[in-house]
Amino acid sequence: MISLYFHIPFCKHRCAYCDFNTYAGQEELIPAYVDALVREIKYVASSSPQRLTVHTIFFGGGTPSLLNPTQYEKIFRAIRDHFDLTDLSDLEASLEANPGTVSFPYLRELRALGFNRLSFGVQSFHPGELRQLERIHDPFDVLEAVTWARRAGFANLNLDLIYGLPEQDPGQWAATVKHAVDLHPEHLSLYALTIEHGTPFGRWVARGLMPIPDPDLAAEMYEWSAEYLEAHGYIQYEISNWAMESGPLSTVHRQPSYACKHNLQTWRNQSYLGFGAGAHGYAAGVRYSNVLRIKTYVDRFHTLPADQLKFPISPAVVNHHRILPREEMQEMMMLGLRLTREGVSAQGFADRFQTRMVDVFGKEIKELVQLGLLEWAGNGSSEVLRLTRHGHLLGNQVFMRFVGD
Ligand code: SF4
Repeated sequence: MISLYFHIPFCKHRCAYCDFNTYAGQEELIPAYVDALVREIKYVASSSPQRLTVHTIFFGGGTPSLLNPTQYEKIFRAIRDHFDLTDLSDLEASLEANPGTVSFPYLRELRALGFNRLSFGVQSFHPGELRQLERIHDPFDVLEAVTWARRAGFANLNLDLIYGLPEQDPGQWAATVKHAVDLHPEHLSLYALTIEHGTPFGRWVARGLMPIPDPDLAAEMYEWSAEYLEAHGYIQYEISNWAMESGPLSTVHRQPSYACKHNLQTWRNQSYLGFGAGAHGYAAGVRYSNVLRIKTYVDRFHTLPADQLKFPISPAVVNHHRILPREEMQEMMMLGLRLTREGVSAQGFADRFQTRMVDVFGKEIKELVQLGLLEWAGNGSSEVLRLTRHGHLLGNQVFMRFVGD
């Protein structure tokens, strides 16, 4: 089964740390953008050799909560017209929402349309930190948004939080995590702030107007959070992600029931189609990305090329690359090792590539196991290679060993 990702590159204001492909002050282009998404869905689905079955749909951004329910209805109709959807009980339809942009009637309409998971970009419960990040919401907006989401019938909520801010006090971070847990979301994503070039944060740091966040302090915050969340019933399943389980977990490898199915698809190196400006996709062995600018993206669907492009390429694609078997193996390791419980299955690797993981990466695995960064867990057909607890903080160094060449 395939996953669909939709990029919604509109924001009311650009946050000071953000380097995503998103634009403020271009909301007048939303109707044309929605029409272009519908055309892209039709174009890509018609070029597929067979009708595809979808099991996850994810609207990310940007701020997807800037589109109105009528616009989502239009997109959902196009999805249903051109793809088969898996059983409703299995379908995950997620929307990233800015807590400062939602209302109860809006969330109720989204739920009625079929969305069943919301991901709120909370980042912090500290008003001063939210101002520093230049977020448009305050902590009360979050409380309201979560209350409205529950009343609207959402039983699967994620809250995104950011730690390691410049001069962030660990006590303030702990208070943010505790506030988040008190709201009982089914899922929590904790991201370390990275200072990106080209952002106001990047410029302020370069000019000495803002200190570089202390990486050791950020590591302490991460470790404290992992322990706190575990003590409060959250199961870590990915380096930055924790989820609740609705029943007892029977094996070490199984994902908690509220793990994000859409993101699991990418970490398992499985296929997903990306729609919209700057969206990425991976299907039929090809990785591709769409043009970044909204206006250019929209224009590309006004006059379609005379010849049908080969699936999964659409007129919006600016980069595409066929993945060679060696690269696919490297990606499998780099993505799969992010999954802290599941890791990369020895049997799964052998089934996919007709060769053993240890025959391809034996040297790297041996060294990383000796360094205490990787471990083998389970046995027989359920044997997996995964990061150790110590390795969670050094994931990037581990991944580099597999993609170094
Ligand atoms: S709301 Fe999210 S996507 Fe938009 S500018 Fe802020 S961080 Fe970036």
